[in-house]
Amino acid sequence: MTLRQAEILERTLDCVHCGLCLSSCPTYRETGREPSSPRGRIYLFRGVAEGRIGLDADVASEAHLCLGCRACETACPSGVEYGRLLELVRADVADAGRRSGAVARFERLLLRRVVPHPRRLRALLGLLGLAQRLGLERLARRVSPAGLRHALDLLPQVPRGAQCQPLPARVPAQGERRGSVGFFVGCVMPHLFGDVNAATVRVLTANGFDVEVPPNQGCCGALHAHAGDETFAHELARKNVAALAGLDAVIVNSAGCGAALRDAAHWLPGVAESLAASIRDVSEFLAEVGLRAPRARLDLRVCYDDPCHLVHGQGVAAAPRELLRAIPGVTLVDHAEPGACCGAAGTYNLTQPAMSNAVLARKLDALEAAAPDVVATGNPGCLLQLRAGARSRGLDFRVEHPMALLDAAYA
Ligand code: SF4
Ligand code: SF4
Repeated sequence: MTLRQAEILERTLDCVHCGLCLSSCPTYRETGREPSSPRGRIYLFRGVAEGRIGLDADVASEAHLCLGCRACETACPSGVEYGRLLELVRADVADAGRRSGAVARFERLLLRRVVPHPRRLRALLGLLGLAQRLGLERLARRVSPAGLRHALDLLPQVPRGAQCQPLPARVPAQGERRGSVGFFVGCVMPHLFGDVNAATVRVLTANGFDVEVPPNQGCCGALHAHAGDETFAHELARKNVAALAGLDAVIVNSAGCGAALRDAAHWLPGVAESLAASIRDVSEFLAEVGLRAPRARLDLRVCYDDPCHLVHGQGVAAAPRELLRAIPGVTLVDHAEPGACCGAAGTYNLTQPAMSNAVLARKLDALEAAAPDVVATGNPGCLLQLRAGARSRGLDFRVEHPMALLDAAYA
């Protein structure tokens, strides 16, 4: 038994089969099948670790039908760390060659050769933006097979260059200075959500913090770890340990990145603990230090939607709501599915489109019933997924990062 398999076995033994997690699992809610539930998956993973069943295509398929949303972790009274367990199993699935096919190969190519390389990512997104402006994307949608058409439907409008300008290395605090923080920019965020990164820095400086943007930081490795590419995820984490060393607080505005940077303590024991301890989601940080009152009024009904990797991965739920409530004129409106996955889940919406759409439909039903002006959520994947969903259903709410709203309230 390898060390990884020993850890898988040990973690599966935490499960007492109570089933309290089942109703929170999106794939179980859709299928009603035990093997597609957290308890069923843990049972399968244990069977593999004990050598009772082989790591066959069925096990691999269940491991990848799971969204990795970690809602089961929040529901579990026995402390099963399902997210960590899933990462280990997916790494085993990849090593056993059980993840093959064109989609998996394309995903690996994109994740290894493009996503962590800012120039290549910028070039690819630049080409996409040009195609969108020339109307070629609409043409491609008309002539593409269904699978590719789904991927094209998810694509956001790529912003023009000005929105993607790199952030300065240091931005000074405004008003009375309260301290200094580092800012993690992410890999996709600067290219697709440069406005959100800039808004986040403005909100931090408006709250009295100098913001340092350390050079040489890079992709957090979350997508790689979710895809089972453990080696590459750890390589990326190692670079961030070096790039972000010595900062008391590293502020992150992408829930998936924040969870991965915190998980780096598991990935690189003895190496990444201090990085993991320095990570703060921006909403968590501002609630901790005390938000300076925003003055501008935004008369909006806002639904906050929890990104899975913030609420379940980092245990942050109250802070973003608290910040949004502090904006004059904002009415926070509840909806029926705030902590349920939206179906984005890294590259899941590309690799598992049918389940992703089914999960998204429940979320859109809940948001439609709440009828907000704005849906606020702090993760790029969720922003893209909910915007695409709202577009396809013709819903007229905007989907914004909470920092975009706070920034407007400081304007
Ligand atoms: S991570 Fe999400 S989809 Fe996977 S078993 Fe847990 S609740 Fe279900
Ligand atoms: S709630 Fe926890 S202990 Fe109970 S079945 Fe689910 S994972 Fe196992």
